[in-house]
Amino acid sequence: MTHLAPSHQQLLAHLAVKQGNAWVLSGPARVGKRQLAMQVAALHNCAHLTPGSVPCGVCPSCRALLAGHHPDVLLLAPPVQTAKGKASRRKVIPVSAVVASRDDGHDYEQHVYEFLEVRPTYRRRVVVVDGAEYLNEQAANALLKLVEQPPHGALFLFLTEDVRAMIPTLVSRSGRLQVPPITDGEWLAQSEQQGHSATSELLHFAAGRAGLLEQLGNIQSALQDARTLTHTAQQGLWPALQAAQALEPTFDPALHPEALRFVWQQELSLAARTEADRALEALQEALEAYANPALSFQVFVLNLRQILGA
Ligand SMILES: [Zn+2]
Repeated sequence: MTHLAPSHQQLLAHLAVKQGNAWVLSGPARVGKRQLAMQVAALHNCAHLTPGSVPCGVCPSCRALLAGHHPDVLLLAPPVQTAKGKASRRKVIPVSAVVASRDDGHDYEQHVYEFLEVRPTYRRRVVVVDGAEYLNEQAANALLKLVEQPPHGALFLFLTEDVRAMIPTLVSRSGRLQVPPITDGEWLAQSEQQGHSATSELLHFAAGRAGLLEQLGNIQSALQDARTLTHTAQQGLWPALQAAQALEPTFDPALHPEALRFVWQQELSLAARTEADRALEALQEALEAYANPALSFQVFVLNLRQILGA
């Protein structure tokens, strides 16, 4: 749990209203929706809260949240990886995440229904669904009943990049709040608080997405990887293949594609960029289809070589 930037802190006032059972927080990927949701959970459970103030950060509830295991907070998100460690083919939050009796494969440690049957340890149970557009219909319908009559006054926070992709009945029963990017100045101040001095490149890449502040080191290495691959692809065939091999195990589908596109935007012509984009899409599709990853990366770097005229 990090401190929110002032412009996101302002949003807390809306979300502190006791009467609301459910909120849809919408905004771009990694704009800071999850951090905001955790602050809301803190707000509703903090022992030393005064109106309009921030969670104290030192009471048992705040400390539990900081440690990442609060007994009253359940976080639900589409699985990123399957049990075998491969990238999940299709993002979905199934009904087995909501009701234990539907979880035949024992995929979920906790289920929303059972979680809400128990009284809160502190004040209010909070269910955060990060990626609410990925709830399938059964899961959404199961949640709908809980949203209408939340046991023990529980609070639901649905985080989404695209409200229109959510099941409309859930949206209509929730308050709505848009989460915008923070300003560059706020982003800079936040990264400095964490002991990083952000470069102008990092600032440009982040574009105010507060969620990226938790991954500063990863972003820096993804940008470095992207640059290395793009440069090495233009050298000999052997170094290019080696660079592809080096990238494969560290490739983060949530960061590297964007880092590559960011580097290409600075270094390639529009025509080359379009082609390179297509090669990258083919790589992503191959990985999602469980193709041989080593081979997929080789094909990608060979395509890149051709595009760059190497
Ligand atoms: Zn507190």
